[in-house]
Amino acid sequence: MAKPFQTVDCKNPDCGIPVDPSELTCPKCDTDLHNALSEQYYEIDVAHGGQSREEAKEEIEEGLNTALLYRFKGLKVIHGYGSSRSKRGVIAREASYFMKTIAAVKGYGFTQDGLNRGAHIIDFEQ
Ligand SMILES: [Zn+2]
Repeated sequence: MAKPFQTVDCKNPDCGIPVDPSELTCPKCDTDLHNALSEQYYEIDVAHGGQSREEAKEEIEEGLNTALLYRFKGLKVIHGYGSSRSKRGVIAREASYFMKTIAAVKGYGFTQDGLNRGAHIIDFEQ
């Protein structure tokens, strides 16, 4: 992947520093991050970089691979929302439809992110 890797926050509440998810333990407090990641969703944003529909789909696929590779709990995709005719509205609809399809095929859970209609979650454990 060309992009720099997203960091995750150390699960230790007294530490909480951003760490590279490929590390097995936190470099500051030695918390076991392997377990920590399984409680977190890997988060990507496909709506705010001017992505095309195809780019948004590719980013979701890449995000899924990364989330599975590092044993995250699932993938959270921020796709934004907008009117059905706007570019962002189209990406939001296609992204959530794409996620729903993947979840159905693979047997993952698929839910809206709480009350945030600009994001959906694929949950590997459901
Ligand atoms: Zn730590």
